[in-house]
Amino acid sequence: MQLVLRGAAGYEAENTARLFFPAAVRTKDPDPAGNLVLALAGPHALLALLRRGGRTSWRAQAVPAGQSAGEGEYALCRLLYTLLCAGTGRRPPWGMMTGVRPVRIIHDMRAAGESEAAIQARFLEHFACTPQKFDLALQIADRQRPVLDTAQGRDCSVYVGIPFCPSRCSYCSFVSRSVAQPGVRALMAPYVDRLCAELGAIRNTVRACGLRVRTLYVGGGTPTSLPAPLLERLLRCLADCFDLPALQEYTVEAGRPDCTDAEKLRLLKRYGVTRLSVNPQTFSDTVLQTIGRRHTAQDILDCYAAARAAGHANINMDLIAGLPGDTPDGFAQSLQTAIALKPENITVHTLTLKRASDLAQQGGGAEGDVGAMLARCGALAQAGYVPYYLYRQKGTLQNLENVGWCLPGREGLYNIYIMEEVHTILAAGAGGSTKLVQPGRRHGRIRRIYNCKYPQEYLARTDAVPATQKEVSEFYAQYPTAQTPCRP
Ligand code: SF4
Repeated sequence: MQLVLRGAAGYEAENTARLFFPAAVRTKDPDPAGNLVLALAGPHALLALLRRGGRTSWRAQAVPAGQSAGEGEYALCRLLYTLLCAGTGRRPPWGMMTGVRPVRIIHDMRAAGESEAAIQARFLEHFACTPQKFDLALQIADRQRPVLDTAQGRDCSVYVGIPFCPSRCSYCSFVSRSVAQPGVRALMAPYVDRLCAELGAIRNTVRACGLRVRTLYVGGGTPTSLPAPLLERLLRCLADCFDLPALQEYTVEAGRPDCTDAEKLRLLKRYGVTRLSVNPQTFSDTVLQTIGRRHTAQDILDCYAAARAAGHANINMDLIAGLPGDTPDGFAQSLQTAIALKPENITVHTLTLKRASDLAQQGGGAEGDVGAMLARCGALAQAGYVPYYLYRQKGTLQNLENVGWCLPGREGLYNIYIMEEVHTILAAGAGGSTKLVQPGRRHGRIRRIYNCKYPQEYLARTDAVPATQKEVSEFYAQYPTAQTPCRP
């Protein structure tokens, strides 16, 4: 499929076209005989055209006098959306919505004093979402509200990235390095050294700026791919840098059973970790093999039992809908297996194919069935789980969503904080990004600082950490308090 944008048609029209044809190739000079989506925004008229399989359909409308640029952009997207729904016979569940944070729209409209009827109209009429997706977003907004209401201006969370894994999953687009690759294991010790130095610098910034660390999140990659002595070094460093008993939540991803043993699980418990993530993705051995995981479903069950035996009382399990080789029945079976284990959280992701993944390059995924897979998530509600956070990503199959489910009262707070941009996230490690959120003002200024992407680069760039911490201090210096002038 070719995608042609003419006149003032731009980014939003492109996003609307990609709801139906995600891999469309944007071109200014289309093959006249090829399949084509065209969007044109002229000074007097809007035009949307679809040519597919030799058949052409189109819609046009006049531009009324005095129409603003924003109104014109929406009108073109609506025209295109209506044409593509009719031309493909598909209606995306989230309608025309292309943003990644639907729940935030509800928070924002409520904060602006808009009525519940206006919020409903925004979702169902303006975006053409299905009532089911609107209801999901609404439930989540209501559940998040008490968490958002307790946020304080100087709150922050700390993210620690470990960019190593036992092997690379076929759908992975993260910066993580497989320890099976030559030379990668040798990077681990210097990486932890550098990470500890960065965490010390973050601790100093936190103190100087009068920040209050609410949650710690150690992710990646797979943090438990570190050998036990290195993992302990990192955990000791975190205990030295931060007031662990004062935290609301301390999560470590122990995602892969092929590198997470009882000794590491006991270490995590001993060093104060309060939330663990053990991520099956699927309980089908065939699908696990297909995605490049070198472990079985039984290994996940054993890892989960070992985590419980080590005393972990708050466990998340991630599942993915749309993995290659999976089916709605297979996905439902994985869901039932996870539910039977009674983890406190179950997060259901929809497969996202990014260009960097092996799977995207092979053109894989179970796209035709993914909606049917997510439809099986009703089993979570029947088992007593409630949805508490949601986000969407570009490139997700059928533009569907990722939803965190929890037993009531066991919400993963870090997930809400980062997704709703409630407070600053200070990131340490390769691939991390610090997100500075203006204190004391919802949806105030946001500034992002990106760490070096790959472990080798992270080790080589000795200037990066001081530069980042200086920027953080300068940001907070704009919002001084009596106790914290935070001079850079
Ligand atoms: S475990 Fe996660 S980070 Fe590691 S390779 Fe698989 S998807 Fe990527």
